[in-house]
Amino acid sequence: MIAIENLNVLDSTQIIIGEAIKKLGYSTEMYELLKEPLRVLHVRIPIQMDNQKVRIFTGYRAQHNDSIGPTKGGIRFHPDVNEDEVKALSIWMSLKCGIVDLPFGGGKGGVICDPREMSFGELERLSRGYVRAISQIVGPNKDIPAPDVMTNSQIMAWMMDEYSRIREFDSPGFITGKPIVLGGSQGRETATAQGVIIMIKQALKIRGKNLNEASVVIQGFGNAGSYLAQFLHESGAKVVGISDVYGAIYDEDGLDIPSLLDRRDSFGTVTKLFSKTITNQQVLEQKCDILVPAAIENQITQENAAKIQAGIIVEAANGPTTIEATNILTDRGVLIVPDILANAGGVVVSYFEWVQNNQGYYWSEAEIESKLQDRMEKAFDNVYNVHETRGVNMRLAAYMVGVRKMAEASHLRGWI
Ligand code: GLU
Repeated sequence: MIAIENLNVLDSTQIIIGEAIKKLGYSTEMYELLKEPLRVLHVRIPIQMDNQKVRIFTGYRAQHNDSIGPTKGGIRFHPDVNEDEVKALSIWMSLKCGIVDLPFGGGKGGVICDPREMSFGELERLSRGYVRAISQIVGPNKDIPAPDVMTNSQIMAWMMDEYSRIREFDSPGFITGKPIVLGGSQGRETATAQGVIIMIKQALKIRGKNLNEASVVIQGFGNAGSYLAQFLHESGAKVVGISDVYGAIYDEDGLDIPSLLDRRDSFGTVTKLFSKTITNQQVLEQKCDILVPAAIENQITQENAAKIQAGIIVEAANGPTTIEATNILTDRGVLIVPDILANAGGVVVSYFEWVQNNQGYYWSEAEIESKLQDRMEKAFDNVYNVHETRGVNMRLAAYMVGVRKMAEASHLRGWI
């Protein structure tokens, strides 16, 4: 009988950090430095709800490593947010920024809440309350938040406004993922999906295949999943499966993506409209060339890894595949483009947004797209090269690239 997997994302991140440190020949002190964030702030946020009662929300902001520059990373609003998850997500942000060569370390925030059950007003008060609670440790040259699961450009706008009020001057560079009119960047909304497409193309090149002959299953229909479905459809690929929190739909002849996009609600829910659905787990096991998990953590585990039929997995979500599943899939010859590489398009364009805010001069969509493509392709080549030359799987290769940058910067600063 196989042992039960440890699904704690911080534990598994630390295991891979440890392996990367060993492969790179760094000391155990370096492991001690990088295995946890440098700072984690735990906050309690009292919010007046629409029924006049006060509810106290719990939130976090973790800053993993600021040796390279200010920390950077999104804020997640979700009922399952917890401290270990936020810590792991901040480590992944550090690694991501290293892989795509940004002058940032990693940060991450989260609030335990369910935006699907909150009014617009309650969400605004919570967003402002969270910023007040973390305002001492964040800032345009300190730690720069952004959207993540169930937060969006409207929430970024409220947060930017609240921070600007606290500081008493306009601070657009405090947060990225803002609406364009408030200093947001062209292409930020679609950046994660654009980056994933670039990664899919790179992976297909290695396998000698074209996008327009590929079939794709996407788990998740939020920001990344839905734009990805749209772009894949427009590029001539066949999207055969999609899912949301309530279930999934699959059709091996291809789904009508434009109609699904028209009919979904603001949280990306659409499968409720169908009478014949399969589960979120079943959709992963359907026949396809490329599988894109674009939802949440721990979706591909040792339980279902052997049943996955795709030859390529491109991880748009953070942490969708466990260590055990990665080993099973790699042994079977499946090419995995790991999360910290595959979904880095979001933070790349966030970086462009921050640069534009700092310089007060804004680039066109075409400029953003070509700069994004450049960075993502280089990052893929780098990671693939480490994978080939060092004989390690793609995930460990990506960790090695990210860890090396942070370790070098921490060493040069004289920390270790
Ligand atoms: N939340 C996104 C991520 O996990 C984007 C972070 C950012 O833009 O700073 O990469």
